Amino acid sequence: MGNFRYKIAQFMTGRHGMDQLSRDLMAYGMIIVVADIFIPGNVATYIGYFLVFFAIYRIFSRNNTRMTAQLYWYKTYVDNPLRSFLNRDRKHYRYFKCPSCKQVQKAPRGRGRIRVTCHKCGNVFEKRV
Ligand SMILES: [Zn+2]
Repeated sequence: MGNFRYKIAQFMTGRHGMDQLSRDLMAYGMIIVVADIFIPGNVATYIGYFLVFFAIYRIFSRNNTRMTAQLYWYKTYVDNPLRSFLNRDRKHYRYFKCPSCKQVQKAPRGRGRIRVTCHKCGNVFEKRV
């Protein structure tokens, strides 16, 4: 048994291994494959299997530079924006965008009509919160 573990460790040397993107790809892939039961046709199954096989490819890849760049892209453009969107405190704050620069702003709820000065571009506009 010790020999088997040693061989696995040898096989994984220099490979990228499991990271957050591979884990999320596997999770999304499996969710899509299971959800395909309710979706007519089998396009969703192919997409789900593609995501799972792409995750496996990433785990065993020796191209660490490229896998790290993919992980960075995923965290910057997918994971962090999604997390900040899902973690918004909508019960106590209202979220809205600046009309000129689209910067997301928040203000406490229940204050009525307020004048907002954008933190980013200094644009002044009115908003009901
Ligand atoms: Zn602005």
